[in-house]
Amino acid sequence: MQRYFGDRSTAVSVVDLVEHFRGEMNKVTVYRILSRMEAEGIIHSFSGSDGLKWYAACKQCTNHSHYDHHPHFQCKVCGMIECLEISLPIPKLKNRKVDTEIILLIGECETCAS
Ligand SMILES: [Zn+2]
Ligand SMILES: [Zn+2]
Repeated sequence: MQRYFGDRSTAVSVVDLVEHFRGEMNKVTVYRILSRMEAEGIIHSFSGSDGLKWYAACKQCTNHSHYDHHPHFQCKVCGMIECLEISLPIPKLKNRKVDTEIILLIGECETCAS
């Protein structure tokens, strides 16, 4: 499964992962491997606009620190999601502590827009 993520630059939904590895391993095993790989800093997860959990390969994470505070882009035509190599500033909120951010930009990808 690690090789599966290593070869791709876009994210993949948990539904597609279970489907892809059907026959090799069951759903529970897929979930277990995903959570281990996430803990080790190999992949990261986020929610797509469909409410599904999506996974993508991490670029420079280790099991000590995750650098996953980047927005994602989802194409509304083909549905693909990719990591954006940019950082958006998180606003300071008075009297509130922010743990995580989920920023999903939605539009048309390069292929679908042309
Ligand atoms: Zn597209
Ligand atoms: Zn990402």
